Amino acid sequence: MKKSEEINQENEERIKEGTASITTFGSVFYNPVQEFNRDLSISVINVYIQQILNTKNSITKEGNPSLVENKSEVEPDITILEALAASGLRSIRYARELDGNKKIIANDISKKAVESMESNINGNNVANIVETSHSDAILLMHKHKQKGKQFDIIDLDPYGCPSIFLDSAVQAVKDNGLLLVTATDMAILAGNSPETCYAKYGSVSLKIKSCHEMALRILLQCIESHANRYGRYIEPVLSLSADFYIRVFVKVFSGANKCKRTTSKLSMVYHCTGCGTFVLQPLGEIRTNNKNEQVKFGLPTVSVAMPLCNHCGQRYHMGGPIWSAPIHSSEFVKQVLDSASDKLKTYKRIQGVLSVVLEEISDSPLYFTLEKLAGTLHVETPPMMAIRSAILNAGYQVSFTHTNKTGIKTNAPATVIWDIMRCWEAKHPSKKKNIEGSVAQRILLTSPAKMHSFDIRNDANPMSRRMGYVRFQENPLPYWGPGTRATAMIGEYKMAKSKQNQGKRKRDNSEENK
Ligand SMILES: [Zn+2]
Repeated sequence: MKKSEEINQENEERIKEGTASITTFGSVFYNPVQEFNRDLSISVINVYIQQILNTKNSITKEGNPSLVENKSEVEPDITILEALAASGLRSIRYARELDGNKKIIANDISKKAVESMESNINGNNVANIVETSHSDAILLMHKHKQKGKQFDIIDLDPYGCPSIFLDSAVQAVKDNGLLLVTATDMAILAGNSPETCYAKYGSVSLKIKSCHEMALRILLQCIESHANRYGRYIEPVLSLSADFYIRVFVKVFSGANKCKRTTSKLSMVYHCTGCGTFVLQPLGEIRTNNKNEQVKFGLPTVSVAMPLCNHCGQRYHMGGPIWSAPIHSSEFVKQVLDSASDKLKTYKRIQGVLSVVLEEISDSPLYFTLEKLAGTLHVETPPMMAIRSAILNAGYQVSFTHTNKTGIKTNAPATVIWDIMRCWEAKHPSKKKNIEGSVAQRILLTSPAKMHSFDIRNDANPMSRRMGYVRFQENPLPYWGPGTRATAMIGEYKMAKSKQNQGKRKRDNSEENK
């Protein structure tokens, strides 16, 4: 027996997930924590396929009813490219669990990965649906940018940053096609290296409490900017932050004229270095003439004219641009929630997360967090329901965010939020000697414009919380993390490295206040 075969057999591992069963070898990348990602992708794509089939059927019926019966069996309804397929598990699950008559190309640059995929595809009896490709993903997508060769769906699930694949991906997907993009380089996106973030994504990240939502918005603006170069634009249907990665699902449309709307969907972010208050500055503005509904594009005036924060007197950092338009389509998410199969292993989490997503206020980007508001004023942390009630009592909207369990998303201006916190401090005073000369002292110098009521309201407790859904991932599993780059490590060494890295990234341990 050859040496390499011995190694392969030693590291051989059988994996069952969904309806698929595959064998991986130590050097081929498989991450069990991503089962939620794959379950969710299947649920999302099934809704998308249903939409495509409905459109096709209505066109065919209108055009020539006889065509419906004579529909060719050979021509697939849907073409899917998994550009960085690694173990091929995702493609096999797509073949077995997606609706409709589909053709899937599972591509990987590693010859070993492709060989392993081929045996798994045969083992799962899906060779008639999944075709393997051994190619550079970028070159492959460039070969598919002409009309007629484009894919309905492209799935990009790279290790780390997806940005180098975006230019070819936005061209190789059909008009009204679906693009699924994962990013796992969360440290860069969450503000640990704003310079690197700009180099990779064309946007400066900030170390702010709402960094996970900001990461989603940085990725969306990056995809939009690539699409715009080819007269195309995106419509996000679902954008999720989960575990150690973010994942966005966007539809891509053609229309050079519509690209002029992009600047009004982007904003720079001013973030106060003292109290954490954020202000969004849109890059563009659209004015619609009510009489003839004509649209005019313009430059907005700058809203942050003062160099210092008017709540605490500290200076701002500036980040962005970020996508400041809605990051989900609630109509689409509702369909996913209604149709997701409860047989999926992570169904409960899909149900919980999507319920929170549906409750999120869609036109108020970013959020405050309970512990940052209380920490800034050195006061006892208020119960979440008290703060949410106070915001509602003041006449504004409030919601949770799926990206952070202590997040407070609201359309209330920051002045109202700080007034509410001043009223809370009046009831639960901070120790004066602790706040001397601090940001807290500066904020508390101003009296609240009105006394806010903390009377608890029933509607402060959203349905997803009342029902006790699994809204946030509570306990990370063993080997939690983005894994290791494919082919870099094998077998036990890979696991040892994962163990060693447990808890390496500082996680927010604060508990949601009950
Ligand atoms: Zn401030």
